[in-house]
Amino acid sequence: MDIIWPDLKISIDEDEAQLPDFIGHKLGIADDRISNFRVLRRAVDARKKPSIYFVYTVGFTLEGSKQELRRILSRNSHLRKNVSEPEKKTEHKPEKKLLHRPVVIGAGPAGYFAALALAEAGYKPLVLERGEAVENRGKSVQRFWQEGRLNLESNVQFGEGGAGTFSDGKLTTRIHDDRTRYVLDTFVQFGASPEILFQAKPHIGTDVLTSIVKNMRKRIQELQGEVRFETKVTGLSFRDGRLYAVMAGGEAIPAEAVILAVGNSARDVYGFLFKAGVMIERKPFAIGLRIEHDQSFINWSQYGMESHPRLGAAEYQLTYKDSSTGRGAYSFCMCPGGRVIASSSEEFGVVTNGMSEWARDSGVANSAIVVTVRPEDFSSEHPLAGVEFQRSWEHRAFLLGGESYRAPAQNTMDFINNKLTGELSGKYTYAPGVVPANLRQTLPPEIGEVLARSFLDFDRKIKGFLKDSVLTGVETRTSAPVRILRDETGQSPSAKGLFPAGEGAGYAGGIMSSAVDGLRMAEKLISMYTVSYRE
Ligand code: FAD
Repeated sequence: MDIIWPDLKISIDEDEAQLPDFIGHKLGIADDRISNFRVLRRAVDARKKPSIYFVYTVGFTLEGSKQELRRILSRNSHLRKNVSEPEKKTEHKPEKKLLHRPVVIGAGPAGYFAALALAEAGYKPLVLERGEAVENRGKSVQRFWQEGRLNLESNVQFGEGGAGTFSDGKLTTRIHDDRTRYVLDTFVQFGASPEILFQAKPHIGTDVLTSIVKNMRKRIQELQGEVRFETKVTGLSFRDGRLYAVMAGGEAIPAEAVILAVGNSARDVYGFLFKAGVMIERKPFAIGLRIEHDQSFINWSQYGMESHPRLGAAEYQLTYKDSSTGRGAYSFCMCPGGRVIASSSEEFGVVTNGMSEWARDSGVANSAIVVTVRPEDFSSEHPLAGVEFQRSWEHRAFLLGGESYRAPAQNTMDFINNKLTGELSGKYTYAPGVVPANLRQTLPPEIGEVLARSFLDFDRKIKGFLKDSVLTGVETRTSAPVRILRDETGQSPSAKGLFPAGEGAGYAGGIMSSAVDGLRMAEKLISMYTVSYRE
């Protein structure tokens, strides 16, 4: 009988390899009757720090007579019989034959997972990516960070692997979808540590992500998919409400089915879609600043100790509800042991974000603290008003930073007091450098006020949060400011054959949900279109 044991708590100093013995002992049975032991989930419980525990969910097969197994289950009500659900199959009734291979625009998580699914199903997709292959992209990104020279087509937002390539590679998600397991398995297949399959808060890190992305590309190519880098899509052509070509690299590529997975920074794409009459609407998102702390301070606050070899750099998660405005503020994309990175993709704009390596060992913790903004906050009802809103605050940050992609920076206490910072009194990591400034000027006044109140609240939750902490800004690319509408078939209601996917289309936020949405759109495409081409 296959058994699940949830909430199995052991001290972080105990050895995980002893778990089967421990289980045998607790159930009063010999170890050799336990087989197929596996860890399904591992979380940290630090509520009674400095006594810290790992909380496991484990699975194992228990040998014994039916009667005996029934007796064990009735005496141990915390145990569950593992009844795996039969796999759900999508009905496959393709109604249209494709004369040309499907095109995937964008090689981020949504685009690559969609392309992989199409390739596995024999559709031989063509992937078009404006940025460089990850090997060269890294050089363009370093040049920007070190010399302030921005490559407009290949940067932290654009290029193979998408926006999350230079990231912490956090794989946590709030969505509940069986495809998340497939995404994690795929990451492991292409080079991630198998630990991500059971960690409660898995992360990959930039260093490992880059090789995973390369391996995914190879697999798509092995399955006769094609990936073209440095090939920007500049338009889509429609006839009678149906897609028939993709304009890219000076060429019109015939295509009747396209998965559009361009991420939330492809403002030019939003522009040409809007002009072509594709239905787009405004959408809320969040805006704010990055805060940095000494990692050892965060470790003390979360674990009650400076470090422990089995715990790694500590994370935090904070939320605040502002009663006077009704707005929420929260920590976003927290990167333990990481650094703040310049994430611009347009000229004359400063954008912050965070990343870390797998080891998370920089000694500095950073997180965005952001406040929700709604379409009413934008200056007009135009569907792309949110893009203009982002752009205007990024430009303010650029001006305040001295017009050279350095970021304006401020001590958190000075931000709260709305006072210019002379000297920065904590650690900060943003390259190509910072300029002390009043960050209130990079945000709408009400958002600045809410942020200041949220910092005071967070200081009550994590004592000392305000001290020796430095802010940089501005953090605007938290999610898409638009949604590209789609109907129940996954296609744009105004453009048959166009499947908007991932974060840029407004259906995901983060690596996992974007990858899942890419898969979902590939499945929709496969269920509707079959192939007749021979290329
Ligand atoms: P993207 O990843 O943005 O990919 C879109 C791709 O489309 C890009 O490669 C782009 O170059 C390409 N493209 C755009 N326009 C065109 C065009 N016209 N022609 C051809 N190609 C085009 N999320 C997490 O879950 N965990 C994290 O730790 C995390 N950290 C992050 C750190 C940073 C610095 C950033 C910027 C983001 C981070 N995110 C993180 C968010 C995450 O990266 C995104 O949610 C995710 O990448 C979105 O996936 P996507 O495929 O929808 O879009």
